[in-house]
Amino acid sequence: MILQKILNQLLILKTYFESFFNYLNGLFLFLRVENALLHFFSKYEFRIIFGLLTNNCGFIPRFFTFIFLCFLLTRPIEVFPNKINWGFWAHQRINRLAVFTLPSEMQVFFKRQIGYLTDNAVNPDKRRYAVVGEASRHYIDAEAYGDSALFRLPFYWKEAVEKYGEDTLALNGTVPWTIQQYKFQLTEAFREKNPRRILRIAADLGHYIADANVPLHTTRNYNGQLTGQEGIHAFWESRVVELFGENYDMFVGAASYEYKVAHRAWQAVRQANAALDSVLRFEKELTHRVRPEQKFVLEDRNGVIMKTYSREFSTQYHQMLNHQVERQMRASVKMVGDFWFTCWVDAGQPNLAELANFKLDAAIQKEENEEKVGWLKRLFQVRTESDN
Ligand SMILES: [Zn+2]
Repeated sequence: MILQKILNQLLILKTYFESFFNYLNGLFLFLRVENALLHFFSKYEFRIIFGLLTNNCGFIPRFFTFIFLCFLLTRPIEVFPNKINWGFWAHQRINRLAVFTLPSEMQVFFKRQIGYLTDNAVNPDKRRYAVVGEASRHYIDAEAYGDSALFRLPFYWKEAVEKYGEDTLALNGTVPWTIQQYKFQLTEAFREKNPRRILRIAADLGHYIADANVPLHTTRNYNGQLTGQEGIHAFWESRVVELFGENYDMFVGAASYEYKVAHRAWQAVRQANAALDSVLRFEKELTHRVRPEQKFVLEDRNGVIMKTYSREFSTQYHQMLNHQVERQMRASVKMVGDFWFTCWVDAGQPNLAELANFKLDAAIQKEENEEKVGWLKRLFQVRTESDN
């Protein structure tokens, strides 16, 4: 009798174990078919799939669907802070291509360091939420200062501070002045012949110049949030570039000396701002023309599931913009090359061949990496505080 009971208990235990292993197996299988599912999900509305699976099947599929949806819902958030900038790809490409516009006297150093200049083109965005004062360097909200602001605002930082005060300027973005400040600093770094400073400042300057050429960096409505077009920022500067960037004609010729640095910085934001109307209007027009389910798809990007503009929608937008993104990107490359070159000339054309063998040694490399980890740590601190 007792033996029978023990046997029964053992049998129950066995079934428990079996179902546990079945569950593990299922989970494993589930992970493996994740991509296939994703493909399937990307074609249909979330709700419909969820409804279908939950109504017509048992606990296990329902459970997996639930896990899968949790997984879908949590993952895009991981990358959200990085999405508001020229896509990383564009920033890196702009710095990289600018190197090839330089004269050979500069290339002797810049070409050797092309990896650094490319990789670090995105540093300012990485520290954007972590370093005080960083965020405002990437944009200018033209409408904060009324009509034709970009033609009326003081060219130089000192005058601007006298007129508006630093707080107001910081609040509404400072990119045209930041470019001038970094131009000055890069010239100084060339004068000192300090290879590490040259590299760091050149990489940063390239970033701010590229930002100044993005139409949505010149407005308060930077992500279409004021006109019901949320997401347009990443659409214009990441999605479109990612789909069509490889085919852009990025030949800009040799770098030329810029006599009017401040003027050029303002010219860039004015030009970008002039393109803003089409950026917003075409997206709106196109949205009215297509069915809602044709506008977005879910895509797996480096293991992160994201809701993104569909290929068809992007292609039509790209055609309506008639090479606008390409033009702005090319203008960025040209301007970055011109500014690096101008700094070098203004510093008295130091002989960069002497720096040709410069290597970020292990100690410096470690320091730089630690600094980046520091940005990240502070970023998380900022986030938790703001959540409270
Ligand atoms: Zn930026």
